[in-house]
Amino acid sequence: TFGEDAGGDEDLLPRPPVVTVMGHVDHGKTRLLDTIRKTNVHEGEAGGITQHIGAYQVATNLEGEERLITFIDTPGHEAFTAMRARGATSTDIAVIVVAADDGVMPQTAEAIDHARAADVPIVVAVNKIDKPGANPSKVRQQMSDYGVVPEEYGGDTMFVDISARQGVNIEGLLEAILLTADASLDLRANPTMEAQGVAIEAHLDRGRGPVATVLVQRGTLRVGDSVVAGDAYGRVRRMINEFDEDVTEALPARPVQVIGFTSVPGAGDTFLVVEEDRVARQIADRRRARLRNAQFAAARK
Ligand code: GDP
Repeated sequence: TFGEDAGGDEDLLPRPPVVTVMGHVDHGKTRLLDTIRKTNVHEGEAGGITQHIGAYQVATNLEGEERLITFIDTPGHEAFTAMRARGATSTDIAVIVVAADDGVMPQTAEAIDHARAADVPIVVAVNKIDKPGANPSKVRQQMSDYGVVPEEYGGDTMFVDISARQGVNIEGLLEAILLTADASLDLRANPTMEAQGVAIEAHLDRGRGPVATVLVQRGTLRVGDSVVAGDAYGRVRRMINEFDEDVTEALPARPVQVIGFTSVPGAGDTFLVVEEDRVARQIADRRRARLRNAQFAAARK
């Protein structure tokens, strides 16, 4: 069962949107991700998010229903484009942060281009509205000139005024993300199949060995699964969430740290679960050989 949303239509269940935060330097991307991380944690997880694993999930209330949103926790365009370059479209919605005292800047325009190239809807977070020089309507005007037209001007993009520093209207932003997802995307995935997804970041930990944060895109990832990611393979020995808790399974749109790879996968590598260790190893070996051949051929040119 390979490929896009394998399984019948009846197997497809709603899944949370995956969001990337982009925008000009110093407009508040990092601060926004921090504020969201601190203010919106799952019920029961009183300790809050305790570790940076490259992505996290928050819960918020929309019209009386608890809904999840997954944030890629590396702001900026590199992560976004790195994953796209490897064909791993991990993002459903781009939040573009624009500082209301600074307005649209070169990297704002770049972010719009990236979102368009990836064909993902945009939500605009007009940040720093607490600042004396803030001019949110100017931001709306400038963004309109780039073709990103606010709903209130007859366009189809939601703009939300926020202060990441003071925690103002973060709920409004989360709501806009969910409303945009509901209005323009049909986010469903089959949780019953073997897991597939993308590695968001990976490193070698002294005690734990290779540690990879993966985002499950389809299926359910379980402890004990044989996995291959790029030319790395292994068996899932442990999975740890952003609350530093061990989990036994990860559903679509859930980011989780995986321990058990025999080498470190690359950020942006796609991963998949295969039936046994032997197969995972074969696929990884074949990919490594292909990569070596390609490098050899390139060197001879
Ligand atoms: P990034 O480069 O886009 O990640 O920007 P940062 O999140 O690092 O923010 C740049 C600076 O703007 C930092 O000094 C932040 O504290 C500040 N900042 C971010 N959001 C706000 C805000 O809502 N209001 C104010 N006054 N300052 C903010």
